[in-house]
Amino acid sequence: MSENHGCSGNCETCSSKDRENEEDCRIKRALSKIKHQIVVMSGKGGVGKSTVAVNLAFSLAKQGLKVGLLDVDVHGPSVPRMLGLEEARPASEDNMLLPVELGGLKVVSIGFLLENRDDAVIWRGPMKIGVIRQLFSEVKWGDLDYLVIDCPPGTGDEPLTVCQLLAGTGSAVLVTTPQQVAAEDVAKSINFCSQLNFPILGIIENMSLFVCPKCGEVTEIFASGAGEELAKKYNLKLLAKIPIEPAVSRGGDAGEPFTRDEDSSPAAKAFSAAVTEIISAVEK
Ligand code: ADP
Repeated sequence: MSENHGCSGNCETCSSKDRENEEDCRIKRALSKIKHQIVVMSGKGGVGKSTVAVNLAFSLAKQGLKVGLLDVDVHGPSVPRMLGLEEARPASEDNMLLPVELGGLKVVSIGFLLENRDDAVIWRGPMKIGVIRQLFSEVKWGDLDYLVIDCPPGTGDEPLTVCQLLAGTGSAVLVTTPQQVAAEDVAKSINFCSQLNFPILGIIENMSLFVCPKCGEVTEIFASGAGEELAKKYNLKLLAKIPIEPAVSRGGDAGEPFTRDEDSSPAAKAFSAAVTEIISAVEK
């Protein structure tokens, strides 16, 4: 979106010059109804980014907030599987797509737009950018307190497009595991955000520890506290350390998001702590 596009958020009163860029106008209008936009990113795949995005969205919705979840992972959208929505297809109204509703959450995934679950998407940058823009301009998100956006790993077209669209309004949550190898890639995401001037709310260290459900003994499966080190090095907040919990993974595979039904386990408490930190960071 062009930075000096003077959209008021109201298409009916747009000047003709603004209308030249109608899509920008529609994007701006959609975003004006979403109070907070949280982009979940990581420099590395497999660290639990989608798991974190899905469970943060559910934890926010459980607090009675109006929440949307947008999955822009063009090449590997995990959200449909994690929410048991593989067969879901959004309805449309007034030439706009309606998010799929699940447990109070409004969900849109690029996966909903693929004919076949196993289709490989072979799109060059401009196509990806165009589709991501449409997910803002042609989806009826309505009024939301939070939109959580699950980006693919790395610093490619998808996070770049999202951060440019949300410039001045959105912020990022970065996910790492405790190992150095993940932290090195997440450091790239931190630098990416700072080059774009995109604020970072903090870091979530996922799969930090394993708490034995029988005896409560804590085991550090991956030895180093990379999330803590990153937070210290870049002066960022460590929002939460989420333990490895078999139910988190089972829930993701079964399409039953863990935080929808679980409140008391160490991982559920860690997600809840992350949400408390996020709310206090964006609303201060
Ligand atoms: P990414 O989006 O970073 O590629 P995923 O969210 O797909 O990663 O997670 C990768 C795998 O790790 C999935 O099988 C997921 O269920 C599992 N997983 C993620 N976080 C946890 C956790 N805290 N405890 C147990 N399993 C987890």
